[in-house]
Amino acid sequence: MEADPMSQLQSVLPWQHDLWQRLTEQHRQQRLPHALLLCGEPGLGKAQFSKALGQYLLCQQPQLRDGLLRSCGHCKGCMLNAQGSHPDLVEIVPEGRGKAIKVDQIRELVSTISLSAQQGGYRVVVLGPAEAMNINAANALLKVLEEPGSRTLFALYSHLPGRIVATIRSRCQALHLSQPDRAQAIEWLNQQSDVEGDLAEMLNLAGGAPLAALELVMNGSAAQRKTLYQALKLVISGEGSSSQAAEKLVKTRVLDLLDWWLILVQDLIRFQATQDPACINSLTAKKMIIALSQRLSAQQMFGFTDRIQQYRHYLMSRNNPNERLLLEDLLIDWGNLFRPRSLSGLADRSEGLLI
Ligand SMILES: [Zn+2]
Repeated sequence: MEADPMSQLQSVLPWQHDLWQRLTEQHRQQRLPHALLLCGEPGLGKAQFSKALGQYLLCQQPQLRDGLLRSCGHCKGCMLNAQGSHPDLVEIVPEGRGKAIKVDQIRELVSTISLSAQQGGYRVVVLGPAEAMNINAANALLKVLEEPGSRTLFALYSHLPGRIVATIRSRCQALHLSQPDRAQAIEWLNQQSDVEGDLAEMLNLAGGAPLAALELVMNGSAAQRKTLYQALKLVISGEGSSSQAAEKLVKTRVLDLLDWWLILVQDLIRFQATQDPACINSLTAKKMIIALSQRLSAQQMFGFTDRIQQYRHYLMSRNNPNERLLLEDLLIDWGNLFRPRSLSGLADRSEGLLI
């Protein structure tokens, strides 16, 4: 059985409806600008939205469904898009995670779009994250932005628009994608995933961005975080050594552990200052955070925050650091926080590892 083409096309996410409506209306009135720059926090689906818009512009018979004009899913344009092979939709992304968009990619684009649209309609370039363009790529793109062909749309997206050269920004209509409210985000997450219970926490940890939260749910980090909390409790209670605690955590990247640990300590600091449980992001560690906030001073917590940052920096700046040793060391420091004379212990030990 063949896959339903609709399911292969990008969908418009619930919190994107207002913006979608605005743009499809502009298009209907033939007022759609030739370049858009969609901004907003990571994890809101900016790339997905930009691509959905491109696919919509290439649909030959858009249809009204649930109050929105959308791609029909069965015309020739939609079929080609469903297969990812529409010649008039060009997608430009970095060739690897964290890499730049290079000038060669833009040059190739320029030669493609100097030809007329192959299907006789719109031509769409979806490019992002736009801040990943290096300076040569940006300059090359600028030339085509200055002289766009007719019925061409450049849909750029970025969560760091300040890093895009001003000459490019000024040629694009800036759009802002806002975060959904919490109820809408949780509802959407519930529809995407069978995992229950941790969704609210994942949303908190993802700063309210639903796609980022979904990634956290799908990559199994919820279970790994719980293991971290158990390991931290083990060391606090003195029932297990730092080495035994580290053993429990061998399956998780140490950098991830440090990030989660940092969030937990920041939760502790916030809760101690406000006594408001609503400010706790690490929901599954809430009881532990409330209890620990009575045992630690603000000075100790800020000191430990610095300590985690220091280890993070160390891990990222060295080749092949001994991660296990480093983790055990930090677990010892953590345990010392709950024993007498912990502050002096912390200061003494910091020299040994890092120098
Ligand atoms: Zn269609």
